Amino acid sequence: MYKLELTTVNGLPVLASPELLRERSILIAFTTRQGGVSPAPYNTLNLAAHVGDDIANIQTNRQRLAAALDLDAERLTTAQQTHSRNVAIVDERNAGAGAADYESAIPDTDALVTGLKRTPIAVFTADCVPVILVDPETRRTAVVHAGYKGLYSNIVTAAIEALRADSGGRVGDIIAFVGPAIGVCCYDVDPERAALFAAARTERRNGKIYLDTPGIAADEIQAAGIPAENISVSGLCTACREDLFFSYRRAKVCGRQATIAAIL
Ligand SMILES: [Zn+2]
Repeated sequence: MYKLELTTVNGLPVLASPELLRERSILIAFTTRQGGVSPAPYNTLNLAAHVGDDIANIQTNRQRLAAALDLDAERLTTAQQTHSRNVAIVDERNAGAGAADYESAIPDTDALVTGLKRTPIAVFTADCVPVILVDPETRRTAVVHAGYKGLYSNIVTAAIEALRADSGGRVGDIIAFVGPAIGVCCYDVDPERAALFAAARTERRNGKIYLDTPGIAADEIQAAGIPAENISVSGLCTACREDLFFSYRRAKVCGRQATIAAIL
């Protein structure tokens, strides 16, 4: 199945699936913090417009990303993420929402689904779990922002259902990518939060409880009917890899990496 690779595309490092791009003309990418112009604490490839960085820097960063991936920055469609269970379908009426500024992004939404060509959809994260869903048969994609609240309210399942309803395809054909997020190595939580999830996805060390949110996301994807062999998990921890990723746990004021999908 399609694996994630840390690769450099036209000078920009991204975690992507070159095989999916080559065979199906569907581009997926999890960006890193490298290759942008934002100053500290947003250094350097901050792609989100809601974290206090100068909009001019964000626009330059988004244009660099679009140029490297050969996408149109004006078609980039984003949401005002609120840790909700809300999914929006992106069509010609809202394509490009949030490309220019945060105010025009799709309100109160944490997952986007589209079948439009050359219309990149994106969510932004720094520790929360980003998920990409692709149905290569019906040519639909989805991107999901899932923190512990989103995982608890099953936003990933909601996105899978919305994608399937929009495409009319089979859930078993969907391919899922779980991107870089804070790992079980670093994400210690209070017992009340840990108790919301399966004990198998928690770890006890040094008197603390750690939560495996990428594992919880993968479990949810499989429970929704996507075969295990269709699921790729990056295994990269945003908190450990300061060189590659922004981490909210490590620095409360920081940039956001983007999770992007586009049908070419
Ligand atoms: Zn870690």
